[in-house]
Amino acid sequence: MPSLWIANARVIDPAAQRDAAGSLFIRDGKFVPSLTAADKKRARKLDARGLVACPGLVDIHVHFREPGQTHKETIATGSRAAAAGGFTTVVCMPNTSPPADNAGTIQFIKDAARRANVVVKVLPTGCITVGMKGQALAPIGSLQRAGVVAITDDGDCVQSNELMRRALEYAKMFDLPVMDHCQDASMTVGAVMNEGVVSTRLGLRGWPHAAEDIIVARNVILAQSTGAHVHLQHISSRFSVDVIRRAKARGVPVTAEATPHHLALTEESLGGYDTNFKMNPPLRTEADRRALIAGLRDGTLDCICTDHAPHTPDEKDREFDFAPNGILGLETSLAVSLGVLVRQNKFKLPFVLDLLTRQPARILKLPAGTLAEGAAADVCLFDPDEQWTYDARAGFSKSANSPWHGQKLTGRVKSTIVDGRVVFADGRITT
Ligand SMILES: [Zn+2]
Repeated sequence: MPSLWIANARVIDPAAQRDAAGSLFIRDGKFVPSLTAADKKRARKLDARGLVACPGLVDIHVHFREPGQTHKETIATGSRAAAAGGFTTVVCMPNTSPPADNAGTIQFIKDAARRANVVVKVLPTGCITVGMKGQALAPIGSLQRAGVVAITDDGDCVQSNELMRRALEYAKMFDLPVMDHCQDASMTVGAVMNEGVVSTRLGLRGWPHAAEDIIVARNVILAQSTGAHVHLQHISSRFSVDVIRRAKARGVPVTAEATPHHLALTEESLGGYDTNFKMNPPLRTEADRRALIAGLRDGTLDCICTDHAPHTPDEKDREFDFAPNGILGLETSLAVSLGVLVRQNKFKLPFVLDLLTRQPARILKLPAGTLAEGAAADVCLFDPDEQWTYDARAGFSKSANSPWHGQKLTGRVKSTIVDGRVVFADGRITT
């Protein structure tokens, strides 16, 4: 593999507080401080004038639907969508068919992710409970030996407090983070959007924020009493943000994520009953949206994750009550995050890139999110000012369920580099 010289970039490495014009040098798939004159002559040179070069983006919450629902997405197509969005490492949720609750299914996912056409690093999680049924613990030790980076019943939430307590005790023994989708099922039966005036006006069944807040509080209590690390997935409610803020002030080992859609959109988007705005947890109020942004600003929320959840047009093109939850996110996450946080809320660009690189890597202790010498050369090159129109149907995912289809976005990924290999450039997968 030839050495790579990325020249004339604005190099941003949040982990090293580096933000300066310069070059990145890559040899044998790793960052090096410089190249020899002979190496430079042979190296492939990328002129990155006008572009930002940052660590490859990391998403610790995606659904690639394999095994079992490969009509929606496969590990290969999902990894292409990831590369097109500037992501170099993604973590897959285990709610596949069958659910990834045993070492055999984890091995299947790892084998699929090793196939030649999978262009980014795809890491598996395992279930907390057998079949995600919430009744018996999955074999957590054997899942860990099989290579999962966390356990979660995402899509569902472990309802039994006692079972969750035991899951945390086991997970702690194996040093595995437990991720939780926080939802009290008894309060959300048949719910399809946020509960409030808008749901009343639209005649849709509401999902009260309290159903999230109660489980967030439960998880804080269990994390404190067991000492186990709980990562709270896709936080959507301002009350949850407040609970997490106070827990962190006491030193409770919890971390939390927000999605671009909960940062950018509110329940007001549902007026047209467009199922591309239907997801779980639902879009909430402007006050909730503002609280999530404040939570990212003060470190209450640790990172941004997409919850990339593909569904086919046939599946989404149904009455609102019957359409499945979830939207795509990988190809729009960077542009939407830059729009909401940098342009509208005046966050510093390196801070936002930290939320998309080093922070998610830190939560799951992944060796990613850095441009440090000797680290794997995973890079995202993007133009922070380019305007483009997102066409979900022309994207790399197998599905097209995005609320941003047809929208003008600012900030575009130009190249994605994994282990020193250019896997995406100028709108095309290049390997
Ligand atoms: Zn979820």
